[in-house]
Amino acid sequence: MKRSSIGRIGLALLLLSLFAPVQLMAAGEVNVYSARKEKLIKPLLDRFTEQTGIQVNLVTGKADALLKRLRSEGRNSPADLLITTDAGRLYRAKQAGVIAPFRSNTLEAVVPASFRDPEGYWYGLTIRSRPIMYVKGRVDPARLSSYEALTDPQWKGRICIRSSGNIYNQSLVASLIAADGAEAAETWSRGLVSNFARPPRGGDRDQIKAAVAGVCDIAIANTYYLAGMLNSKDAEQRAIAGQIGVFWPNQRGRGGHVNVSGAALAASAPHRDEAIRLIEFLAGKEAQQWYAERNGEYPVRADVPVSDTLQQWGAFKMDPLNLARLGELNPQAVRIMDRAGWK
Ligand code: FE
Repeated sequence: MKRSSIGRIGLALLLLSLFAPVQLMAAGEVNVYSARKEKLIKPLLDRFTEQTGIQVNLVTGKADALLKRLRSEGRNSPADLLITTDAGRLYRAKQAGVIAPFRSNTLEAVVPASFRDPEGYWYGLTIRSRPIMYVKGRVDPARLSSYEALTDPQWKGRICIRSSGNIYNQSLVASLIAADGAEAAETWSRGLVSNFARPPRGGDRDQIKAAVAGVCDIAIANTYYLAGMLNSKDAEQRAIAGQIGVFWPNQRGRGGHVNVSGAALAASAPHRDEAIRLIEFLAGKEAQQWYAERNGEYPVRADVPVSDTLQQWGAFKMDPLNLARLGELNPQAVRIMDRAGWK
């Protein structure tokens, strides 16, 4: 009898040792669809695994392709969370029904209200700004003031900006609709187009390069591109970036246009709790410092310092508009840019 009970315990232990790790593995994983490049996020995900034991399976891809994939996978999608850039895209994911709302006291405490969806569909994790950049020595920053003032005839043929197909510009125009109204935003778009140095082409870095090359004197670009060039291994990139000054527009008014990269819970997340835990980890102090610095962005938390690269441009006032508005106004912004002849 004694022997048989030991035998039973032994068998139970054996079964436990065989199955427990399997069960742990199954419960402890999370599937991430990320529009951010692997090197910009992977070390952080590894750190999360180290701290929690939760395995992270990472799928990276272009933002629009990932959204399409989530849509076509529907309820069978293995995705637990989506990490992507621009509130306009996060809004599209919400509209497409591929993300689900959730509440988190942790996230509500550390992510300012304007950088998260009011209904909890997505949470901003890093802030990016889209200021006016100018070639030092060629533009007197005292002549700059606001986005609105870029339509002034003094800038005729002197402005480089990428195409209207780009979400960053769509969000910028959406912010102008929110601030000045649709009619003014359309007049502004026409005025800006008439000051273009060339028909839009290339990405944000290309606008900075074109400015330094003499094609234009002003470039509108996101700050992390300039930060990336300043910290580049390539001496030529560093030299180009060194000639650019950053001007924070609308500092006497609503503040400069900002946007976020953020995270959302997938609509049919098989590992919902782990996904929320990961988003909370990404909003944590340690993660914020690494993530924002690595990406040349601003931390979403006010209690995490800005990197040295970004500090050289000084502090600035951010437009307090809730970024969900950028998504809501996106279709209107696209129509306005189209009518204004913004290629
Ligand atoms: Fe970008």
